Amino acid sequence: MATYYSLTKRKNPGLLSLVIPCYNEEKVIPYLQDSLNEILPKIPANTEVILVNDGSSDKTIEFLVSWANKDKRIKVLSFARNFGHQIAVTAGMDHALGDAIVIMDADLQDPPEVILEMLAKYREGYDVVYGRREERAGETFFKTASAWLFYRLMKILVHKDLPLDSGDFRLISRKCLNVLKDMRENHRFLRGMGAWVGFPQTPVIYKRAPRAAGETKYPLRKMLRLAINAAVSFSPLPLRFSLSFGIFIAFIGFLVGISAIVKVLMYYSGLYPNFVYNPGWATVVTLLCIIGGAILIAIGILGEYVARIFEEVKGRPLYVIDSKINVSDRKNRR
Ligand code: UDP
Ligand code: MG
Repeated sequence: MATYYSLTKRKNPGLLSLVIPCYNEEKVIPYLQDSLNEILPKIPANTEVILVNDGSSDKTIEFLVSWANKDKRIKVLSFARNFGHQIAVTAGMDHALGDAIVIMDADLQDPPEVILEMLAKYREGYDVVYGRREERAGETFFKTASAWLFYRLMKILVHKDLPLDSGDFRLISRKCLNVLKDMRENHRFLRGMGAWVGFPQTPVIYKRAPRAAGETKYPLRKMLRLAINAAVSFSPLPLRFSLSFGIFIAFIGFLVGISAIVKVLMYYSGLYPNFVYNPGWATVVTLLCIIGGAILIAIGILGEYVARIFEEVKGRPLYVIDSKINVSDRKNRR
């Protein structure tokens, strides 16, 4: 990554906010609780933990409520329904009061010890410290391979500075957080937004652990959705691709057309007596299919962009909060 900056050393944050989205994680919360009870005292800063219940349909919220009632550092935001991981993280970011925040998954795949290394980089002056995965333990070949492809494709489509092999596990300084908080787009790809903001960024390498319990909440369908969101929200490349593809198909159609006309003319002028002048059924059908397909693809891609404009124009809030625990209602910190 290019360096556009110089680093200024700084102290540990006075307050560090952990932002953790939880969707149907009843099996995981007890492990998370144990793990945080162990790591929080080691963190050289005051801490708050913002747990966002993303419309879970299991007992997640009950676990979170009883945890928050015992520990004032634990803050809970509970959504009115499932809004998705990226939005849940956004709500946590909006309510964080820390001088720096760490975004991590509830399932302990992002090992909390890594936070200490992230803080070391924060003190060096970095504004974003993202976790880069060295190994994906306990995941299927398909998940590993699709993730590999996903990150490479995203780098092309989203931003040249998009870090490879890293998820949303990262530390973000208040300076960077305030910029991200001003970016209110509906279709969010936080990693790409982070790359867009810029500021000094650096990785810490970590081993991604297997899930503490329960199943992934990111099935293929949601992963594809995230990939399409990332591509379409950040880059006009799909539109340009459909234009080039359309031009290419039109060019082929032009050549086929010319050759057909030439053949027919030669046939009538006696230059090409052996030419079998049939109704041209195969050609017409093939061309129709190709052109029809190309047009539909192009309209589909266009539709993705139009749908996004529609969503943005409505200007709805990104999420609806049903209840809050240990979260003060005073205005969010800037
Ligand atoms: N998650 C969420 N809303 C969703 C899906 C997932 O808040 O609609 C949370 C989930 O509880 C977890 C994190 O996002 O804390 C990452 O999800 P998961 O571990 O299932 O994804 P994976 O690690 O398998 O990609
Ligand atoms: Mg996970």
